[in-house]
Amino acid sequence: MVMPFNSIVDFRVELTEEHELFRKSVRSFVEQYVEPVAMDIEREDRVPEDVLEKAKQMGLFGVGVPEEYGGQGGGHLMEAILMEELSRVSPALGTAIAVRALFTTPILLYGTEEQKRSYVTPVARGEKFAAHANTEPCCGSDVAGIQTRAKRVNDHYVLTGRKIFITGSDKADYFVVSARTSAPLENKRWWGITVFIVERDMPGLKIGQRFNVIGLRGERPHEVILDEVKVPAENVVGEVDQGFKVIVTTYDHTRVGIAAQGVGIAQGAFEKALNYSVQRRAFERPLISFEGVAFKIADMLTKIEAARLLTYWAASLADRGDRRFVIAASIAKTFATEVAEEVANMAIKVHGGVGLDAETGVERYLRDALITTIYEGTNDIQRITIVRQLVRELFGVKLALT
Ligand SMILES: Cc1cc2nc3c(=O)[nH]c(=O)nc-3n(C[C@H](O)[C@H](O)[C@H](O)COP(=O)(O)OP(=O)(O)OC[C@H]3O[C@@H](n4cnc5c(N)ncnc54)[C@H](O)[C@@H]3O)c2cc1C
Repeated sequence: MVMPFNSIVDFRVELTEEHELFRKSVRSFVEQYVEPVAMDIEREDRVPEDVLEKAKQMGLFGVGVPEEYGGQGGGHLMEAILMEELSRVSPALGTAIAVRALFTTPILLYGTEEQKRSYVTPVARGEKFAAHANTEPCCGSDVAGIQTRAKRVNDHYVLTGRKIFITGSDKADYFVVSARTSAPLENKRWWGITVFIVERDMPGLKIGQRFNVIGLRGERPHEVILDEVKVPAENVVGEVDQGFKVIVTTYDHTRVGIAAQGVGIAQGAFEKALNYSVQRRAFERPLISFEGVAFKIADMLTKIEAARLLTYWAASLADRGDRRFVIAASIAKTFATEVAEEVANMAIKVHGGVGLDAETGVERYLRDALITTIYEGTNDIQRITIVRQLVRELFGVKLALT
């Protein structure tokens, strides 16, 4: 009945008063500092520095990072709550703050003590910005196919290649970068990739074009060009040639945050639709008194609550260290981001013509939702992960689906 889980107890969600207190404090930060500028972020395509500064003072960049490395502690659940509350009003701000997890997670999981102290600490304190450069023109889903090269020369590596769609790279002081150090082995395409920490001011690293993607205005990604960048050998994260594992394990953890972003986007769009359906009158009645509108409102809420539960469940499994959180995270990411897309679409319809006017601030949720279905592993790649994990868990068989 509960396969691949052993017991219905595995479905418990572990929320405490501490989580609720934290949620309230993020909500009050958002109401005071983000809500008033949410449409400016959209129009001007940038997050104001004083908002980032306030987030830094509140320690929001360190949520989910252990205190010994400059963070606030708290696990995946805290990070999910933060992402949900930020994305309810400004998904771009959610991404701007959460992107640091794509840098700190691989170092916390695989890095040396020295790397954690030198690189994670300033990023968790919000003193430095960081980005994660994996995707290339040739390959996004196919991490094993990347073409950036890293050649060992004495005590350092020389990196050459081009990374695209890199969130936060325009501001970043530090990057984790994947590169091929050895040829793949037969039947092991993933072998031979290594992850490096690269600093912004290392000669040869340049930030290229900005990508004019449809959503997340305020935090749009850029190209990162690596032209013979000399990186010290001690900046290798994890083992040489085993970087594929570092990259995909990172996404297993950060994916719960994208599920939470989907929940936040859906919640934001839903609240606007609900308020409008109560205030707007047609045929001398409020819109919500028409069954066609009321059923949309009911469906939106039903889907959001299901998405929220899945997200908190995946985060709880991850916080309990249950390795089956990987399948739960893929389920939650796929479901919640598709709910976000559906709910944002319905919210536009409830608004009628004004829903299509950018100034109403509703259609942006649909544009942002579409991105969440694609980044950090497209939802079809999540579906592959779900089936692969399921078959491995139940039958001990490794499926080659990609
Ligand atoms: C706004 C934004 C921000 C981003 N930020 C970052 C970042 O900070 N760092 C970073 O490294 N990357 C980032 N990305 C890149 C993102 O992670 C990739 O775009 C994503 O993983 C998909 O890769 P791709 O674009 O190469 O698509 P492809 O891999 O070419 O996929 C194209 C289509 O084919 C499907 N497909 C591919 N392979 C399979 C398969 N085996 N089975 C079934 N379907 C398949 C995909 O689902 C998709 O529908 C960002 C992207 C966007 C849009």
